[in-house]
Amino acid sequence: METIHLPEEFQKIALKARAAGKKIALVPTMGNLHDGHASLIDIARKNADLVAVSVFVNPTQFAPNEDYDKYPRTLKADEKLCAEHGADIVFAPAPDAIYAKDASTFVVENACSQGLCGRYRPTHFRGVCTVVNLLFNLAQPNVAVFGQKDAQQVAVLKRMVRDLHIPVEIIVAPIVREGDGLALSSRNKYLSARERAVAPQICAGLNAVKCAVSEGVVDVAKARKIFEEALHANPLFETQYFECVDATTMSQLSEIVPRETLVAVAVFMTETRTRLIDNIRV
Ligand code: AMP
Repeated sequence: METIHLPEEFQKIALKARAAGKKIALVPTMGNLHDGHASLIDIARKNADLVAVSVFVNPTQFAPNEDYDKYPRTLKADEKLCAEHGADIVFAPAPDAIYAKDASTFVVENACSQGLCGRYRPTHFRGVCTVVNLLFNLAQPNVAVFGQKDAQQVAVLKRMVRDLHIPVEIIVAPIVREGDGLALSSRNKYLSARERAVAPQICAGLNAVKCAVSEGVVDVAKARKIFEEALHANPLFETQYFECVDATTMSQLSEIVPRETLVAVAVFMTETRTRLIDNIRV
């Protein structure tokens, strides 16, 4: 496995591999890799001859008040995990190698990105679409693997690939969780001990909603109440959103449609202001 820092070098290797008939898989990440990312690399390995993992904390998807500066950067450990899971290339560029100082071209998706996280992070998906497009141009992948943990990101990127006729197959990997249900996330590191202890209640709340839907609940307000009850009115939680959306378009539903609805939440843990997202298909 080799680590590449320069975009043009990465693109040269990718173009050569494609010309030689090799199938390329790309796993875009922001690093600080955990078992969730590892599951994506494993899937990539099964679907390609050459597996590239990008490790890039993308500045354009962070708003000025967000955690870009303090986001954990752990390249050495990331390289080790990538090697253990059979990746061929780690692409770890510097931000100024990716974006020219006067970069002025962005990719904007205008439907799937509007609700949920997009409402609270209005420039986030523009940054995601732009960097993923750019990474596709460098990596020349046949397939790219993303996690269902970021369900809205998957919806937005699938729409982008469809709308722009990008010849990349998107593979979606299931959410990897801790034994107690907490979805793995690089941001879990920010949690205080008290927050970490109660954080699995978010997943428990989503499971309770799923259970209720299977018993016939379709009312969104009722579903929200069931979710909030699982958080036990604990002041460590502050729900930013609880939404029931169409699982493909992410558009808000007035009533839950069993099997076609995604229940998605963003919750602030109030002690450290860590924002956790999670979702479940019901
Ligand atoms: P990130 O480094 O947070 O940008 O995530 C990179 C990729 O890993 C994205 O496609 C995420 O959806 C995916 N991912 C992050 N956490 C998990 C998880 N717990 N389970 C599965 N995939 C994940």
